[in-house]
Amino acid sequence: IDREKILDIKNLHFSYGPIKALDNLSLHVHKGEIVALLGANGAGKTTLLQTISGLNSADSGEIIFKDESITKLSAEKIVQRHLIHVPEHRQVFSTMSVLDNLHLGAYHHYQKTKKKNVVQEIEKLFEIFPILEERKDQLAGTLSGGQQQMLAIARAIMSKPDLLLLDEPSLGLAPIVVKEVLELVKNLRDQYNTTVLLIEQNVFASLKISDRAYVIQHGEIVKEGSAQELLRDENVKEAFLGHA
Ligand code: ATP
Repeated sequence: IDREKILDIKNLHFSYGPIKALDNLSLHVHKGEIVALLGANGAGKTTLLQTISGLNSADSGEIIFKDESITKLSAEKIVQRHLIHVPEHRQVFSTMSVLDNLHLGAYHHYQKTKKKNVVQEIEKLFEIFPILEERKDQLAGTLSGGQQQMLAIARAIMSKPDLLLLDEPSLGLAPIVVKEVLELVKNLRDQYNTTVLLIEQNVFASLKISDRAYVIQHGEIVKEGSAQELLRDENVKEAFLGHA
């Protein structure tokens, strides 16, 4: 793995009024890595992704993306730098076809380039997501939950992310589908070298596909390590892996 830091967060603070959600939080992600964020409900994981993508404005600290500070940039400007956030609760355009959803994902990136490239890009994606090809003319709202999540991720890939923030991609999915969606995330990294920062309640399944992970508690990083190390860590096992 290339050791270049694509994302470097330093001493980040963010509060919702009196509620401290991020407390002097620092972390980094190397180019091409999959990094998991672990932590109980309310630990601050979603707030962190929202602050990286400009939906929240940090109270202090710094967010460096591709060697430039994005701390003060608007969400729109951050998207233009190819930092793409796929929020919790899959957001596909349910009254549009699968294919049109994918075309929309390409909109920002390709408006200046050729339509032919978009078609080629979609064909390449269909090799990874064959189910989306089978259903390409179907309205997105008629897909299963797992398929909608795959579409949300595929659409994000159409915008050529240098960093993909995924907030609980397997929320509400059956265990077997969870595994499938996470395997797809790994395939995408392997095929596109996309860097991924991932929130996932399924700690075991997410560590299986991740290179490294951070544990957040009350807005602070309390542990970090390779996925292998964390899978063996007694405290992590006790806190998250239960007796599963
Ligand atoms: P979950 O997995 O439940 O989403 P999380 O780790 O993503 O948890 P956050 O949603 O980031 O945690 O929440 C961090 C803290 O901020 C919690 O104490 C939460 O109650 C609080 N919080 C989150 N969103 C808001 C909001 N819009 N207004 C006020 N407080 C909020």
